[in-house]
Amino acid sequence: MEPAPKCLCRDPDSYYLQRSPMIISMDLQPNPIDPQPERSRIVRHKCSACYKQYKKKEHLVEHMRVSYHSFHQPKCDVCKKHCISFESVREHLKGPLPKESCAKTFSSLGCDLCLKVFDDTDVLSAHESSCRLDPAIIPEIPAMLSLETCDMEVSSSTVADANEQGPEVVALDCEMVGGGSDGTLDLCARVCLIGENENVIFHSYCKPLIPVTNYRYEITGITEENLINAPPLKQVRSRIEEILYNGETPWRARILGGRGRILVGHDLEHDLWCLDMYYPSHLIRDTAQYRPLMRTNLIPHSLKYLTKTYLGYEIQTGIHHPYEDCVAALRIYKKMRSLSHPNFSLPNHRKDFLDANSSNSFDFLTKRELMNLSPDALLEMSLPNYKCWCLDAKNPMNS
Ligand SMILES: [Zn+2]
Ligand SMILES: [Zn+2]
Ligand SMILES: [Zn+2]
Ligand SMILES: [Zn+2]
Repeated sequence: MEPAPKCLCRDPDSYYLQRSPMIISMDLQPNPIDPQPERSRIVRHKCSACYKQYKKKEHLVEHMRVSYHSFHQPKCDVCKKHCISFESVREHLKGPLPKESCAKTFSSLGCDLCLKVFDDTDVLSAHESSCRLDPAIIPEIPAMLSLETCDMEVSSSTVADANEQGPEVVALDCEMVGGGSDGTLDLCARVCLIGENENVIFHSYCKPLIPVTNYRYEITGITEENLINAPPLKQVRSRIEEILYNGETPWRARILGGRGRILVGHDLEHDLWCLDMYYPSHLIRDTAQYRPLMRTNLIPHSLKYLTKTYLGYEIQTGIHHPYEDCVAALRIYKKMRSLSHPNFSLPNHRKDFLDANSSNSFDFLTKRELMNLSPDALLEMSLPNYKCWCLDAKNPMNS
């Protein structure tokens, strides 16, 4: 005998089942008179996020299990279709084969940089003048800010401040010269750290541990003279660590964050590797590795491309200045952080589950329960597989 179906009203997850479906025009339930409706008409189960359609409900369920749709995903501002990255939204709106109706609206009322669509052209042009940024003006930085006198413009914050204002943010960039017999080994020779207001917190040249075989002058602008009296890597690293940990013990920063500062940059793994330094990944915001900013095939874009595409100006046109790169990464981070996504409130039992498992939220329900959910309910329970930067904002916006 078949076991009696579980009473859903007692099931904590019935929360999702009670929610009324909104757009399920194509989601036909089996009809008792015509038990196999797919034979006589076209039945399509449509994903509420990306609008992909499936002949079988179980394929939709499987799609939802692996797609990690959520309201944090980039969307077309016209048809609200979810995309895996801003690049795919851009393709959808202005690629070689765009969605025609969306492309038409976008071409007259859309912002090329942030891809938002506005009600009229006046609002659009007012928006565009603030969305497109001017290149950063590189401040007069003493050739060598000595490690001792280097002025910390960031306030020493407390955990209470961090809770109230959101954690403090710093951006880092290193310039590398070449080592090894063929000069291809990257050695950190110049470092810049800036604060949230683009103020220089720390800047220094840095003497690599092994001989420099290629200064890469055309890119780095670094010469032998710059490095003669430069402090050794170890000294530079401990200053950076001091700024980042902000008085927090490394183990606490590793687990809780605490007073540890959020570190923004582009391809930080490489910078940290060259500095021979560890920093907790939950405090790292890397514009090269942030899912919505990556190519559809998960290959990172260059910082130069991201700056042109999202901020509207050119960088790295001649000698690279680490301040310029710091500012670009910081500005891109701030744009992403300021996106207004709905406040995320999960029922408590699910929050606990996710904290403990961080696995797919679809593992909660049985296949049968999942099959009974409407496409909207499936989307509602779907969670992203990356941490959205909007969650760093002090007051996540409601929309
Ligand atoms: Zn989908
Ligand atoms: Zn978000
Ligand atoms: Zn669209
Ligand atoms: Zn814009």
